[in-house]
Amino acid sequence: MKDIEAVQLALEAAYTTLKDNDSGEIATYIPALAKADPNSFGIAITDLQGRSYKIGDSDLPFSIQSISKVLTYGLALHDHGRDDIRERVGIEPTGEAFDAIIKLDDHNKPLNPMTNTGAITITDMIKGTSPDNKLDIILNAYERILGHAPKIDMEVYQSEYDTGHRNRAIAHLLTHFGILDETANDVLRLYFKQCSILTSATELSVLASMLANKGVSPITNESVIQQKYIRDILSVMFSCGLYDGAGEWAFEVGMPAKSGVSGGIMAVVPGKCGIGIFSPPLDARGNSIRGTQACKILSKRLGWHALECSESFVPQNTD
Ligand code: GLU
Repeated sequence: MKDIEAVQLALEAAYTTLKDNDSGEIATYIPALAKADPNSFGIAITDLQGRSYKIGDSDLPFSIQSISKVLTYGLALHDHGRDDIRERVGIEPTGEAFDAIIKLDDHNKPLNPMTNTGAITITDMIKGTSPDNKLDIILNAYERILGHAPKIDMEVYQSEYDTGHRNRAIAHLLTHFGILDETANDVLRLYFKQCSILTSATELSVLASMLANKGVSPITNESVIQQKYIRDILSVMFSCGLYDGAGEWAFEVGMPAKSGVSGGIMAVVPGKCGIGIFSPPLDARGNSIRGTQACKILSKRLGWHALECSESFVPQNTD
């Protein structure tokens, strides 16, 4: 069977198996997210030649939420270098919810860049002349990957700005420890805007394919993140990208990935392709149920678990 045919069959299998699975709850703590349609479901895979294979609602827009933490981490690595970033934010999983408030380690350092404590710190670290300039730098990076400028969902942004009290508490705690450069409110505005960037399953698969392709976007051929940082980013995604479900994910799926509360999952198959999924209902840990299950099916059918010993694009079915 040809590689492409195997990928298309796996996409169809994942989609048809999970389409009618209506378990899980939509995130409502950001009120605007409650408007999502629980039946929306799309999957996309983009290979290193920039070809996308899609099924379902793969082009439906939704706010990127926590998945934005990945690219911002990459930009901060570029701005500061790996040692400086590691001094300021750790790389250890927390085993706690993404918005846990007290997770600074013994040195008043956030434990990793995928939790809100670490992500708010990292967003503040983007080298720009003002919070607006930092946002422009982030948006420009998306444009260099996708080939078009992303939009921000201002309704989602405002909704989170009005109700994001836990994140406000985190930002003030970080200010208390002298960790932030900008004021807590300015960093929060920036962070909430980056979380409100509109994306789709297809765009997430393109973002992931850039990471799978040593930092070069297969769509624009632009080098967006230096190759030397890709392994760092993928390592943190692997250990910390799925909230407190990262261990189960590593075991069952085995791909560096990041999920978000709006129902997106972005997963990377290094050297092969990127995967993007959207389905809003979440499990108790905040991960998209159809998204997690779909990645499990793709990983199994296509032999894409990172710890699988194989070298071809689509190895033999490992069932
Ligand atoms: N903007 C959301 C928050 O900070 C992102 C959370 C997520 O997707 O995990 O609460």
